[in-house]
Amino acid sequence: MIWYPYQQMKTMNEPYHITDARGVWLYTQDHRMIDSVSSWWSVIHGYRHPVLTAAIREQADRFSHVMLGGLTHEPVQKLSARLESWLPGDLDYCFFSDSGSVAVEVALKMALQYYVNRGEMRRTKILSLTHAYHGDTFKTMEAGDDEDYHFILEAYGENPHVIHIPTRIPALEEAFRLWHEQLNCLIVEPLLQGAGGMRMYDLSFLQRARKLCDKYGVLLIFDEVATGFGRTGNRFVADLVLPDILVLGKALTGGYIGHAVTVANRKVYDGFYDDDPRKALMHGPTFMGNALACSVALKSIELFEQNHYMEKIRRIEAVTRREMEGFSDPRIREIRIMGGCACIEVRDPSVLEGYQSFAYRRGVFSRPFLNCLYAMVPYIITEEELVTVLETMKAWFRR
Ligand SMILES: *Cc1c(COP(=O)(O)O)cnc(C)c1O
Repeated sequence: MIWYPYQQMKTMNEPYHITDARGVWLYTQDHRMIDSVSSWWSVIHGYRHPVLTAAIREQADRFSHVMLGGLTHEPVQKLSARLESWLPGDLDYCFFSDSGSVAVEVALKMALQYYVNRGEMRRTKILSLTHAYHGDTFKTMEAGDDEDYHFILEAYGENPHVIHIPTRIPALEEAFRLWHEQLNCLIVEPLLQGAGGMRMYDLSFLQRARKLCDKYGVLLIFDEVATGFGRTGNRFVADLVLPDILVLGKALTGGYIGHAVTVANRKVYDGFYDDDPRKALMHGPTFMGNALACSVALKSIELFEQNHYMEKIRRIEAVTRREMEGFSDPRIREIRIMGGCACIEVRDPSVLEGYQSFAYRRGVFSRPFLNCLYAMVPYIITEEELVTVLETMKAWFRR
């Protein structure tokens, strides 16, 4: 029996049974649909990409996995070298793990231990955003602010180690004024808060955050598990404002295999670099640096560069803006568009009940959540396919 994610098993609808997938298309026995979700925002090159599939096949013919404890190999060395040169600033030190949640855990552990290693034991607090989502493991649930997880704080009582603030500069300044001596990090999903409801906010907030973090010696963590690899219309938001620790996941492997990376800058790395073994980072997921994952991630980055994905994303944004121009409905609170993300926020979530099967009949796979009807399409989508996705969203309100 499969226990499905985020579902009340007693009342859930039967999931669509996928028998094949190619490009933006998912196939069932007798139907096909465009995946407007990119399998939780990861399948940026579409399904069954010949280059990516070949990369996995070739590596599997050598070895699929060896552990990184005491061993190393070419795919992980090449990927870390590639990330080192590809990522901005001195974000050069790559710690791999098997999922985004774990990579965020590693980032939070790094930030806390960075100060413990310096003997600053009072810096135990995390500053985070309201409506943040950072994963489903315990510390990431605490750093996040997803209502579905509030039972945890209720069960344990208030957690004094995480402070949540809205994405407004005065709230940010106030938090630093009150807490700066006890903060070890500020963690954000930069510019676009995904699972918290596709909330978009201004770059000036991040610029101010960088200045305050510098002033008070607080580490800035960007969780770009969702926003990385072009989703916001920027390659990485880290290209605009440089964090101390960057977390990547989801699209890292083009959606082929679960893998993630926590990338630290020189300052953070140096905080662990010592003769004292107690100052080492004590973490090591079994499948970190998996050879299949690293091989496919390398090829994914190559495709991203060689095929000018940033241009593709700009075109997706332009077509989306054109198609949504002037569209409105009394049930809609706001339409938000940023890069390869389009979201129609409705006033009442019940408005979206039944949308999934409506979209299915029109050949689109969609999975609305909260008040959000959204599209995060694979970047290889054609204009015609993209228009189909957006037309389907609009048609729901015209019934
Ligand atoms: C999806 C997501 C995660 C968690 O990644 P998993 O691979 O599902 O563990 C963390 N942070 C953000 C911003 C995400 O969107």
